Amino acid sequence: MHNISKKEMKNNFDVVIIGAGPGGYVAAIRAAQLGMRTAIIEKDKLGGICLNWGCIPTKALLKASELYESIKSAEHFGISCSDIKVDFKKVIARSRDVASQLERGVAHLLKKNNVTVFQGFGKIKDKNTISVNREGGDDLNINAKNIIIATGARSREIKCDAKVWYSKDAMIQEKIPKSLLVIGSGAIGIEFASFYNAFGTKVTIIEMAGRILNMEDSEISDLAKKEFEAKGIEVLTNASVSEIKSTQNKITAKITRDESSVIREFDNVIAAIGVLPNTENLGLENIQCPLDETGHIEIDEYCRVSGFENIYAIGDIAKAPYLAHKASHEAIICAETIAGIKTHSIKRENIPACTYCTPQIASVGLNEKDAIKKFEKNNIKIGRFPNIANGKSVAAGKTFGLIKVIFEKNTGEILGSHIIGDNATELISNFTVAKSGELTQYEIMHTIFAHPTLSEMIHEVTLAADQRSIHGP
Ligand SMILES: Cc1cc2nc3c(=O)[nH]c(=O)nc-3n(C[C@H](O)[C@H](O)[C@H](O)COP(=O)(O)OP(=O)(O)OC[C@H]3O[C@@H](n4cnc5c(N)ncnc54)[C@H](O)[C@@H]3O)c2cc1C
Repeated sequence: MHNISKKEMKNNFDVVIIGAGPGGYVAAIRAAQLGMRTAIIEKDKLGGICLNWGCIPTKALLKASELYESIKSAEHFGISCSDIKVDFKKVIARSRDVASQLERGVAHLLKKNNVTVFQGFGKIKDKNTISVNREGGDDLNINAKNIIIATGARSREIKCDAKVWYSKDAMIQEKIPKSLLVIGSGAIGIEFASFYNAFGTKVTIIEMAGRILNMEDSEISDLAKKEFEAKGIEVLTNASVSEIKSTQNKITAKITRDESSVIREFDNVIAAIGVLPNTENLGLENIQCPLDETGHIEIDEYCRVSGFENIYAIGDIAKAPYLAHKASHEAIICAETIAGIKTHSIKRENIPACTYCTPQIASVGLNEKDAIKKFEKNNIKIGRFPNIANGKSVAAGKTFGLIKVIFEKNTGEILGSHIIGDNATELISNFTVAKSGELTQYEIMHTIFAHPTLSEMIHEVTLAADQRSIHGP
């Protein structure tokens, strides 16, 4: 019998996770809670893109821009503020501090749950062995009964010689640019457009599709476009960019729309054209890991990599949508599956999507077009309720916005909800909870919502689907 040395014992785990983003670190905590010997390998910072370069630092930035806009409109509330100054370096520094604070929080949680952290680059050697390449240290082999791949994604780059910004660059600038071209109108592009516009940058958004926030309900995208334009953002849809070049302190870009092209000059350009999965150098070839047509790891509904009993993939490396809460939810499903607990598979139609621009946008489930496609127009009913008809919105001076809900006509099943306006990203959870719990229109109608709250709009919009709204138009 092979005698296991102490060192070898130390490096034997029930679960080894590669990547400590919101997928990986949540999987580690849940696996450890379930009594499994757990290790996590991270080449950079604990918390991944989400905590360090994504969700959290951008929300800290957006809070600053929102605050600035609120202070500027304080006069409306009878409060005079003069000589308002922005120290942009401090805005950025606070966002970095927030990220660091949360990174330390993840380190604490992993320690508290007895998760072993290996700092280094993880590579799969075979289906039970991972090597950790440690900077300035020896390479280490660790044995894993189960492997979870959670290596995330990175910005898709644009081919050009000019120094364009990607999301990471856009969140650590020292100066507010006078003009900015944002290429791509997904959540990331729109959030940066909103942030810089609030601080006075002349922002132009370029979108190849016919509308911005293409994945949202078209009624909501159209309202968002109008509102952004009212704030001074230039929105060019059905447009493309080429020939991005650096000139002295500026960047020029050729913008083509309706078959005519112009060369425009900007201080900076942000490319927000999607993400690519981090599959390189991971040793995926050593296990012949299957990838789908988009280059993401192919998984089943419990996040098990197709063809393997003990290898899982979660988060941005696996299926869309590429969202932190999707990664964390998959993490729990997969840790529980490994532990042999009967768990549920992920229901993709119940994953909410949020964009934290001003006004905020949030949705869950089918949009109107897809609901009609799936159920036919006669079999659905739609409620709409505007923020202007909600007392709390009027009191807060935030009357722009709309909530929309789509029900299946006969059963009252919630098919989808789409929100634009103040606190949309919090409000959507009402419908996410209801939809996940399989509540119907009937149960929401009979729920008592506190007054005065924005959540009362959830009630009103549900009534509106039957033309029964009390305060609606
Ligand atoms: C600017 C921006 C804003 C965003 N805002 C939101 C938002 O508001 N809400 C939302 O839900 N999502 C948002 N996202 C998306 C979100 O950040 C991702 O969906 C989420 O981080 C994915 O989690 P993950 O665990 O799959 O991967 P990541 O968070 O990418 O973590 C992967 C980790 O793996 C590590 N790693 C990679 N390869 C190796 C290796 N071989 N060995 C060791 N370590 C490795 C990486 O260093 C990284 O730390 C945003 C993204 C960006 C860029």
